[in-house]
Amino acid sequence: MNATRFEHLVDDACSPAATAVAASALVPTTRPPRRSISCVIPCYNEAGNLDELLATLGQKMGATGLAWEVIVVDDGSTDATPAVAARWCHTPEFRCILLSRNFGKEAALTAGLQAARGDAVILLDGDLQHSPDLIDTLLQHWVNGAEVAYAVRAQRNDEGAVKRWGTRLFYKLVNSSHRFSLPQDAGDFRLMDRKVVNALLQLPERTRFMKGLYAWVGFQAVAVPYTPRPRGHGSSKFSGLRLVLLALDGLTSFTTWPLRMVSILGLLMAAPAFAYGAYLVLDHLLVGNAVSGWTTIVVSLMFFIGIQMISTGIVGEYVARIFDEVKGRPLYLVKNELGQGLDKGPQ
Ligand code: UDP
Ligand code: MG
Repeated sequence: MNATRFEHLVDDACSPAATAVAASALVPTTRPPRRSISCVIPCYNEAGNLDELLATLGQKMGATGLAWEVIVVDDGSTDATPAVAARWCHTPEFRCILLSRNFGKEAALTAGLQAARGDAVILLDGDLQHSPDLIDTLLQHWVNGAEVAYAVRAQRNDEGAVKRWGTRLFYKLVNSSHRFSLPQDAGDFRLMDRKVVNALLQLPERTRFMKGLYAWVGFQAVAVPYTPRPRGHGSSKFSGLRLVLLALDGLTSFTTWPLRMVSILGLLMAAPAFAYGAYLVLDHLLVGNAVSGWTTIVVSLMFFIGIQMISTGIVGEYVARIFDEVKGRPLYLVKNELGQGLDKGPQ
């Protein structure tokens, strides 16, 4: 790739010709700063992958001709991730934010977004699945005016049938009642303009289901198909149960129809039960038949209790989210910050 490919992002006023003309006329020139990019990498036990990723990423960003920084957010790793990241922080473009414990990927991403100083921010995973090779394409879309360029998996053949089916079901449920929709197969690998990052940072909620928040803020977005690479070292931190919990966060953050469904279900169940009860009483009083069918009573009692408990559970999920919000605890705590990165200019 041409080393100065993105340098035309520098304002024309600071082109050599413009500067020469201004200098000859003895007009003081103020050189507008180069446009800048922050790359944010959330890491939880990625010591085996980080050196390779940061080396490739550094080369890639250096070749763009733009100002850049890479921010590693260590999400309370228990391996050598902080030590590996700290070594890189001797190079001026690299920074590391060490969280005080593991807060989860969504919190780590938010920490990175809050720390980023670039005109655009690129998010990528620390396990080598998100190849820096795609960055040129993301930047090209940004240069052409897109406010978001997000990577979409070209296929999910590497996943099992249950996970693929669960993912499809989740997107159907979460997208059923909105003016905006969460694109299926899109993850956190994306470039966002400063406007978009600032919009995301304005959202105060603590349950940060990022895929939903990206969709909620809107802006002009372009999808870029890609095939994720296999993970480098280590294994995925998102087990089946953790994915289900994340999906629950997504559903409760972006839908209220389950609550309405509970009321409708209650009505649908109560109406026939009431009618049947009335029929039994009348049958006993008018015809004189003894009330029979203990089995039916026990089965229907268990059925209704089951429905009631599920309904309470659904309501409980929402109440739990409200509880998290009202506590108002910070999303994450920073233990230490290393390195320099981009200058802290006015944003
Ligand atoms: N991650 C994190 N905190 C966590 C779990 C994961 O910062 O609690 C990071 C992880 O180190 C990686 C990215 O999030 O850089 C994606 O995680 P992973 O590869 O385990 O997820 P998958 O690719 O399987 O969805
Ligand atoms: Mg991964």
